[in-house]
Amino acid sequence: MYIDHDNRITPAQAELKAKVHAFARDVLRPAAAALDPLDAATVAAPDSALWTTLRASYAAGLHTALIPTTHGGMGLDGMELALALEELGWGSADFAVSLAVTGFPASLAAKLGQAELHNNFVAPFVADGKAAWIGCWAITEPNHGSDHFLMNDPQFRDPTRHGEVTARAQGDHWILNGAKARWVSNGGIATHAAVYLNTDPARGLAGGGIALVPLDLPGVIRGPHLDKLGQRALNQGGFAFDNVSIPSHFMLAGAELYPQLLDQTLALTNAAMGSIFTGVAQAAFEAALAHTQTRMQGGKRLCEHQLVQKRLFDMYCRVESSRALSRNAFIWNAGRANPVTELATAAKIYCTEAAYAVCDSAVQLLGGAGLSKGELVEKLYRDARAALIEDGSNDVLALSGAQLVLSRQADD
Ligand SMILES: Cc1cc2nc3c(=O)[nH]c(=O)nc-3n(C[C@H](O)[C@H](O)[C@H](O)COP(=O)(O)OP(=O)(O)OC[C@H]3O[C@@H](n4cnc5c(N)ncnc54)[C@H](O)[C@@H]3O)c2cc1C
Repeated sequence: MYIDHDNRITPAQAELKAKVHAFARDVLRPAAAALDPLDAATVAAPDSALWTTLRASYAAGLHTALIPTTHGGMGLDGMELALALEELGWGSADFAVSLAVTGFPASLAAKLGQAELHNNFVAPFVADGKAAWIGCWAITEPNHGSDHFLMNDPQFRDPTRHGEVTARAQGDHWILNGAKARWVSNGGIATHAAVYLNTDPARGLAGGGIALVPLDLPGVIRGPHLDKLGQRALNQGGFAFDNVSIPSHFMLAGAELYPQLLDQTLALTNAAMGSIFTGVAQAAFEAALAHTQTRMQGGKRLCEHQLVQKRLFDMYCRVESSRALSRNAFIWNAGRANPVTELATAAKIYCTEAAYAVCDSAVQLLGGAGLSKGELVEKLYRDARAALIEDGSNDVLALSGAQLVLSRQADD
């Protein structure tokens, strides 16, 4: 493992990092490599390595990273989340994303602290050592992808453009209708979803709400598993609701609170993406460094050629900058009701673009070997490409980040 030059890390945090690193090396990376060539339905099949790997991850408690210790979870703080996600990402972006997302519905329920939510959504999740309770975060819709991320744009409050999944109050229940897109991570295997939906169409996309939905309820229609370019061990799939009825207390927030909670969600998911793809960049850098130290060309090792050295150091700079920015985003925003979301957005954009550039350089430095199936950097390159769109396309996140920066300067 590389030497970490961050002197904020305590001995206990260093121990956590080493433990997660060993798990990522021994369990996640080999499983992701084995699953990568399979089609999405085979990956999701009950006898697949997906399930043995998720079971091992749950048995290690990794699914509870976002859940406070008061609710039985690992209760990681900002630095610990960054360290754990970097290491999980180093082993496998696919599993890192899956493990971060699975705890999301339970973490929202834990935040509200209501006994009934705890009993339905938190207690069974933290007690699960067998990956029987899988969570997901469903916001993207067939006709509204980027739209959901432009919260400070006038279009967000345009009543003609509200979200496609709607919730209508009926007595002490909410009735859900409409479809979420096939891009929901864990969506094809999830048992429970945190669904970001529309409760007040007159407010447009801002008139949202967040509901926790068990996906075995009558009227839930599951879509097929999605096949894609990278992160192929990360299951994705959509679902639709046909008059699905949930008790009113499963609706965690309505239109009043929705914009603030969406902002908090982006601060968390953007920072998580920054840390995970810092780990991906580190993995690609290490593979390239090792290769250039043994491969002979022109009568000497590749790493002895000056142009190769320049490329390696450029990769090193990107990895270290990613690490610094993503940790700062996590540490600054941890536990804040009003996070500096643009800092997390900067981390998501910078770290995923740095990871893509570092993976591209790693492929280049491995030459033909870097393009070969079964080679780690070939997979990392595809994983990093997906990250430029994942959890908000970088172009659109940059627009949203710019609007936040400008609004804060106007407040000063
Ligand atoms: C690996 C992966 C994991 C994901 N996981 C989840 C998940 O767990 N849950 C979930 O709900 N979703 C998830 N998504 C979906 C993801 O959030 C969306 O793909 C993303 O928000 C983009 O939406 P879209 O694909 O509909 O593209 P579109 O919104 O149609 O965008 C297409 C292109 O147009 C550009 N564009 C769009 N609007 C504008 C604008 N106003 N100005 C300028 N350019 C614009 C975009 O930058 C993009 O390049 C995931 C996606 C990926 C790839």
